[in-house]
Amino acid sequence: MKLSPLVDEGAALSVVEDQRYSRHILVPEISIIGQQRVKAAKVLCVGAGGLGSPVLMYLAAAGIGTLGIVDFDVVEESNLQRQIIHGQSDIGTSKAKSAKRKIAEINPYINVITHDVRLDNTNVMEIFKDYDLIIDGTDNFATRYLINDACVLLGKPYVWGSVLRFDGQASVFWSEHGPCYRCLHPTPAQDVPNCAEAGVLGVLCASIASIQATEAIKLIIGIGEPLIGALIIYDALAMSFRKIEIKKDPECVVCGENPTQKGLLKNYEEFCSPAGATHLSVEKLKIKMDRGDDFLLIDVREASEFEIRRIPGSVLIPLGNFIDGSALKSLPKDKEIILHCHSGGRSATALSILKNAGFRDVTHVEGGILAWAQHIDTTCTVY
Ligand SMILES: [Zn+2]
Repeated sequence: MKLSPLVDEGAALSVVEDQRYSRHILVPEISIIGQQRVKAAKVLCVGAGGLGSPVLMYLAAAGIGTLGIVDFDVVEESNLQRQIIHGQSDIGTSKAKSAKRKIAEINPYINVITHDVRLDNTNVMEIFKDYDLIIDGTDNFATRYLINDACVLLGKPYVWGSVLRFDGQASVFWSEHGPCYRCLHPTPAQDVPNCAEAGVLGVLCASIASIQATEAIKLIIGIGEPLIGALIIYDALAMSFRKIEIKKDPECVVCGENPTQKGLLKNYEEFCSPAGATHLSVEKLKIKMDRGDDFLLIDVREASEFEIRRIPGSVLIPLGNFIDGSALKSLPKDKEIILHCHSGGRSATALSILKNAGFRDVTHVEGGILAWAQHIDTTCTVY
């Protein structure tokens, strides 16, 4: 597939820019015209984290004229193993701000726009509309579907990547020329852990991010074979790249022949954890607490762990009492039960024991008290 350049050539380069980008300009496929397109381009990166860091740094160095950053998070020490746009002195600073500062150091000749907000269905269209291309550096399904749907509705290319442990994937979704993310994943995958739960090799982010940045530049200039209708699967342990073809789904609800979804969904979080789901995010747990919902929060860790730190309102019933059945007699069957442990493993076991015993209204907290400490109560001791 050969596409025409995404971005029209803009203003001429200054003498300083000529020098700065000379190694690009020397490449015949890029040349001065290509570099002018890069300068005229407006690229939005959602997330200044593992993928967003190298994406933003390379696109800044490449001379993308306008770089947008969406991130509402603040830099934490556990980010620094892979989120290389941030440094030690940025801990506690907003990621968008920290990224902007670093970019100014890499390339002062470009314009950086920060969107220090949580991307949602009320702001996504307004934020996306001014950009030529959207790059996904997020780590959760709800945001991916949100980005995808907004890109389909606005007709914009969506450069996607994902990383977990030693595995990475990347693709370009653009419903005008090929499949969208929903064509590949019509329904959200359940029980897929994220990097906060399962970990990730830091440098893997650079491998996938560099594919994303490369595809963005190719689309802007209109060179090469875009990664549209294809999925790259990278296995860092085997050091193998596979490229598989992915097709547009004629039944796709947003980009198919008869789309049934003509706008954004009302609630992407809910879409990604449908009724009957057994997981509950710490954010949702907090909302339920603040709302004063009537539920029983059970901590299934050991007493020694409970002593160190606990989620307010939780009662301790160690997993052993579920396994030997002693806990079951005292638990109400007519009340919502929410289980949690350290990171979600033991609570999943307790959950299946309760489900087997006929308890219906029971879920467990995704990521356990670790996620609570990361996202809700950051003063919480992590062990
Ligand atoms: Zn589709």
